[in-house]
Amino acid sequence: MFDVIVIGGGPSGLMASASAGMHGAKVLLLDKGNKLGRKLAISGGGRCNVTNNKELAELIQFIPGNGRFLHSVFATFNNQDIIRFFEDLGIALKEEDNGRMFPVSNSAKDVVQALLQKVRSVNVQINTDTAVKSVRYRDGIVVGVEGLNGEYWECKSVVVATGGKSVPHTGSTGDGYVWAEVAGHTITELFPTEVPITSDESLIQSKQLQGLSLRDVSLSVLNLKGKPVITHRGDMIFTHFGFSGPIALRCSQFVIKQQKKTGELQIPVAIDLFPDRSIGNIEQELQKLRKEHPKRSVTNLLKGWIPERLIPVLYQRIGVDTDLLAANLSNEQLRQLAISFKQFTLHANGTLPLEKAFVTGGGVHVKEVNPKTMGSKRMQGLYFCGEVLDIHGYTGGYNITAALCTGYVAGKNAAEKNQ
Ligand SMILES: Cc1cc2nc3c(=O)[nH]c(=O)nc-3n(C[C@H](O)[C@H](O)[C@H](O)COP(=O)(O)OP(=O)(O)OC[C@H]3O[C@@H](n4cnc5c(N)ncnc54)[C@H](O)[C@@H]3O)c2cc1C
Repeated sequence: MFDVIVIGGGPSGLMASASAGMHGAKVLLLDKGNKLGRKLAISGGGRCNVTNNKELAELIQFIPGNGRFLHSVFATFNNQDIIRFFEDLGIALKEEDNGRMFPVSNSAKDVVQALLQKVRSVNVQINTDTAVKSVRYRDGIVVGVEGLNGEYWECKSVVVATGGKSVPHTGSTGDGYVWAEVAGHTITELFPTEVPITSDESLIQSKQLQGLSLRDVSLSVLNLKGKPVITHRGDMIFTHFGFSGPIALRCSQFVIKQQKKTGELQIPVAIDLFPDRSIGNIEQELQKLRKEHPKRSVTNLLKGWIPERLIPVLYQRIGVDTDLLAANLSNEQLRQLAISFKQFTLHANGTLPLEKAFVTGGGVHVKEVNPKTMGSKRMQGLYFCGEVLDIHGYTGGYNITAALCTGYVAGKNAAEKNQ
């Protein structure tokens, strides 16, 4: 008989196992893969953005999917505890831009190894290549876990750490949702988040802008009245199917939400090439350029100012021939050009699918989980942690932070319940 069985050996399950072991429980960790931490090992481009050094209040703002649910969790275990946890295991972390923390070695595998070392040091029994079929309940209490090959393990508590449904070849195939439903939980609608945005506009489909990166611009998802629903500033890239890069990933969930809200397929998105300047300010600068270089073609007028591949696109939008001389640009055309710099609008028609997303939105409803313990409010002895929950953050270390911190709290409480 085990005190705690943890199902899933991603960051949340590894931390839950370590935590349950540290708090005195006899623990069994089950994972269907032949290796643990498969998604963790490819995270952050193989470098693992393991947490973020922001103040807690700000950290929560970067977790748009139920970040506020994590207040109590962070009171027990938070980003600073993650940093200390890895440093104690000999994995020093370094801070990069926007508070992102990576191992100094730049190796996600080191992070996985450190977690495994901790799990082993507290005598957790690890069964890999062991797929779980179901969690068994009796009279409102967890009693055991059934394996796909007919195995059965009795236990007092189960921690479900099976992750979401993104990148399924890493093992995250959404199995935990079913066991939660059987226990009486609601699964909120699943959707891809932190995923590239798609567009069927001819400008994108013609691949005219494919590979073009824009640095330090703003990207907004607009509502039907043309007002921004969300704006993110940073870098993005045009692809052969739409837009990608950090700010496109952050905006992606809002494209899906707008589609659902409005019933429209085509959702306007606007790029602001100069977020720190006003239209009037750009207009003045354009007038100055026209005065200084009246004999230049309008194309040459903008060279060095905006990416060259965008120049013909913008002129086409305001109906100006690219061979025109600068002197022949009217004031109204200059104004329209300035507006197009600030509001370069395209239409998104969705995102890549859930399997291609960095993160799964939706999951086990957080209202049915005790935020202090991660225990189920529907079934005694059942705990949840990580991406199986309806919690999702932006890229930048927030998702692994949520996984490790909820894992710590779930493991601790599952262990202490049995004492
Ligand atoms: C390419 C990529 C890069 C990322 N980079 C970052 C990053 O740098 N920073 C960041 O914060 N977030 C990043 N993320 C997101 C982050 O990796 C996830 O949010 C995190 O791994 C979720 O952890 P988890 O423990 O909840 O689930 P997972 O890591 O998905 O682990 C779930 C585990 O459960 C096991 N399992 C599932 N079903 C069963 C079953 N029936 N029986 C037994 N075992 C089962 C699986 O085999 C798997 O090992 C990235 C995601 C991707 C896809």
